[in-house]
Amino acid sequence: MKKALKWGLGLFLVLLIAAVIYVFGIAVPQTDAKMNPVTPHEPYPVSERAKALHATLLVADLHSDSLLWRRNPEKRWDRGHVDLPRLREGGVDIQVFSAVTKSPRGLNFDGNDADAPDDITMLAKLQLWPLRSWGSIYERAAFQAQRLQKIEERSKNNLVIARKKSDLNQPDGTLIALLLTEGSHPLEGKIENIARLYDEGYRAMGLQHFFDNELGGSMHGRSQAGLSEFGRKAVLEMERRNIMIDVAHSSRQTVRDVLATVEAPLFISHGGTISGCPKTANRNLPDDILLQIAERGGILGIGYFGGAICDISPKGIAKEIIHAVDLLGENSVALGSDYDGTVETALDTSELAAITHELMVQGMGEQQIRKVMGENVKRYFAQNLPEQ
Ligand SMILES: [Zn+2]
Repeated sequence: MKKALKWGLGLFLVLLIAAVIYVFGIAVPQTDAKMNPVTPHEPYPVSERAKALHATLLVADLHSDSLLWRRNPEKRWDRGHVDLPRLREGGVDIQVFSAVTKSPRGLNFDGNDADAPDDITMLAKLQLWPLRSWGSIYERAAFQAQRLQKIEERSKNNLVIARKKSDLNQPDGTLIALLLTEGSHPLEGKIENIARLYDEGYRAMGLQHFFDNELGGSMHGRSQAGLSEFGRKAVLEMERRNIMIDVAHSSRQTVRDVLATVEAPLFISHGGTISGCPKTANRNLPDDILLQIAERGGILGIGYFGGAICDISPKGIAKEIIHAVDLLGENSVALGSDYDGTVETALDTSELAAITHELMVQGMGEQQIRKVMGENVKRYFAQNLPEQ
């Protein structure tokens, strides 16, 4: 009897260890690789002139969800889109890291229920995030900021999280990071949580993600409602604290209401134009709203994924950038990859010189290339980050 018990216990332990090895060694990395693929490709052309110009550019990207994945960004990986070594290879100087905290199962651009089962809850458990984050959306945002803070501490000034204007002035080779929430559901309906997230380092907040939340309607929610009373209070508090407002996933009415409520310039961290790609009507804002955002000094980050633009190749990204500049002006367009945001891209961040090359091939001048590849983002941040 005793012997049988021992055998049973032994077998249980072996199965448990096998399950742990399977989940963390195979299932989690496979999910990451499957969700964030790069289309297999030959090296993209980059002329000597493009290489030389790219090396002198300030490069900035407005959206990467890399903190979501169990993949230490300090090391180079052969899966996903972004890590620090690859950012360096791509010449990136400023990277926005966004925190995804809730994602309804069956995600789509047309209509999601806010109370559908949440995939981030499962991901938090499978990736062994702290227990406090399993049941709290606020804690998921706090945890992702803390991940980046730890990297900053270890980096010996190779990575600096921008909390105030002067943080943008760094020596060459330092990566400037900026924290963004993908949706403001981490507030959990409490205005005071804006201050807590600010203290964690967040200087930009998206209002919605794929579903309607306490602040108002999402572009992909059921209601298509505008800003709620809570949302109105929240955006005013964000403006008061110099937190930049991202309307990348907000409903048209929400964006109109925000434009009528705050004076601060808004931004779209990852998107495109419907006039550049008509099939993106359920993912992008119409031109008239984009123009209002641009007229106020806001910026639009062009995504590298199929929902935002028609052709995700470097050629297609460059084409959409040029279309957006024609529409909104050269000061209002930037890069907004959506790297590691469960999207397929044609290139990872180490290959960004291919976009510079295509912009040159398609006839964009050097001064405009400097602006869209990064200087517009730096100017927008410099104008909107707190002084202290
Ligand atoms: Zn997004």
